[in-house]
Amino acid sequence: MKRSRIIIAAVLLALIGAAVPMAAVFYASWHLAVRSEQERLALFANRAIVRANRSLSDVRSVLAAMDASTLAPCSSEHMAQMRRLAVDSRSVEEVGYFAGGLLKCTSWGLTETEIPRDTGDYVTADGIDVIVRMQPLVTGAKPLMALQRGAYNVLIDPVRFVDIIADPGIRLAIATDKSVLIGELNEPDRVLLSNLLARPHNGMDDQHLFAVAHDADWTAIASAPRETIMQSLRQQQLLLLPFGLFTAAVIVGLVVWFSRKRLSPLGELTLAVQKREFIVHYQPIVSLKTGICVGAEALVRWQRPDGVLVRPDFFIPLAEESGLILPITDQVVAAIIRDLGPALTADRSLHIAVNLSAGDIATGRVLPVIGKALAPTAIRPEQIWLEATERGFVDIGAARETITEARRLGHAVAIDDFGTGYSSLQYLQGLPLDALKIDKSFIDTIGLNAATSAVTGHIIEMAQELNLVLVAEGVETEAQRDYLLAHAVDFGQGWLFSKPLPAQEFLVFLRSSRERLGSGPVPIRRAA
Ligand code: C2E
Ligand code: CA
Ligand code: CA
Repeated sequence: MKRSRIIIAAVLLALIGAAVPMAAVFYASWHLAVRSEQERLALFANRAIVRANRSLSDVRSVLAAMDASTLAPCSSEHMAQMRRLAVDSRSVEEVGYFAGGLLKCTSWGLTETEIPRDTGDYVTADGIDVIVRMQPLVTGAKPLMALQRGAYNVLIDPVRFVDIIADPGIRLAIATDKSVLIGELNEPDRVLLSNLLARPHNGMDDQHLFAVAHDADWTAIASAPRETIMQSLRQQQLLLLPFGLFTAAVIVGLVVWFSRKRLSPLGELTLAVQKREFIVHYQPIVSLKTGICVGAEALVRWQRPDGVLVRPDFFIPLAEESGLILPITDQVVAAIIRDLGPALTADRSLHIAVNLSAGDIATGRVLPVIGKALAPTAIRPEQIWLEATERGFVDIGAARETITEARRLGHAVAIDDFGTGYSSLQYLQGLPLDALKIDKSFIDTIGLNAATSAVTGHIIEMAQELNLVLVAEGVETEAQRDYLLAHAVDFGQGWLFSKPLPAQEFLVFLRSSRERLGSGPVPIRRAA
């Protein structure tokens, strides 16, 4: 992915990451506010039902007490008993006595006018005849509810059914199980009530929030204007906001952290290893004497998704430092087998040189990797050369072990970039090497200045004394080749012969070299 795309993606992610928790906070606080408001309403509706039942049981006990009365009807004792019961009961306003279909006396005294007994609007399960709204003659103008059984009735102010202590914003209504509205408080909305009595449910409409409670006898409806949610909402938001802000900050922080990591060179290289973005180019190695191509050096390239090829100098140091070089070496070995497997099997004189990292040399873990990769193929270990730089020789003991083991397995081992570091003759004598690659910097001096080019001559002599095969790197001119040939250097590698080539082009180069010059000598190995 391109840098700009990563940055755009990160910005988008950060925005989403910040917006989502905040939206969640707003949604959750709205949800919680509605729920807590509804719970409050349900509580009041339930209280109204408790209150209604208490009023009804007051009525029942008054009626039962009077039914059991043996006092002479409408005697002053009888009326006093009725009065006492009315006063003692919280709900009952008045008690009355009927005979012959007419009201004879009440808790307030004898009846002067002729008041016939009405039939009720409905009868309760235990036989109480209920008149929902009757205009009392005795007590005053307010319509009351009458409940009558046998010879007695009681009058109740319907508000008694709902006179619970409720917040002023809360509107209450109570209806019988037959949906007859009996009492209400704070003027609930008529349309809402009839809707809810027809289809009782908890919820919310454009203007109200409401809750309905039931029992066998009653339906209670508590409602409140929608605005009451806002206060609760603000409270919930205040509670949840720090959590939302914290989450948003954490997400934005994570996005920044990940994208910085992803954008860092190491992050990009890590991803490239995961996505196996490494391919190999092959630079022909030719016999200086015959010009025959005897093999190639495998040079890794990082092929980015946009097609750009990154040279190893840009990522090998970081890869070595971070340990990513190990999986990269594995990908190089796999690529060699994939690219050149058939060519290597068809031509045993051909070899491919693999660059090992310092870590590969120090641990030797690359050897089983190569072994495993070669096992299912017919490629011989002798066809895989290993190039080790002096940086791998820091722990000389470990290096010797790896090199010895590599040679035991059949690989040839060359020291690469010789002369550019600190390695001395002593080093070379102590290591069981097969070949030495003369660094380009020494080849560059050939024919320039006698003093510096003398070093090149010394290296060549020394290597020959140590019986090492010599490969000259970075050969660019005929003059250099002639010099090397004159000094009996075995092999050369450089732009004079070919630049590093993609696998297919290398195979074409190899074929044409074979057609013109024939097959090369089997790579020489130093006597063990
Ligand atoms: P090296 O092993 O010394 O590889 C030779 C480098 O010299 C290559 O550069 C090659 O393209 C370049 N070269 C060859 N002939 C000429 C020439 O005539 N003129 C000039 N100017 N340059 C020439 P490259 O491919 O960029 O590789 C750079 C270094 O990266 C290599 O140096 C090697 O140390 C490292 N490297 C490459 N592939 C691998 C790998 O698979 N694993 C490890 N660990 N290191 C690798
Ligand atoms: Ca090399
Ligand atoms: Ca080199």
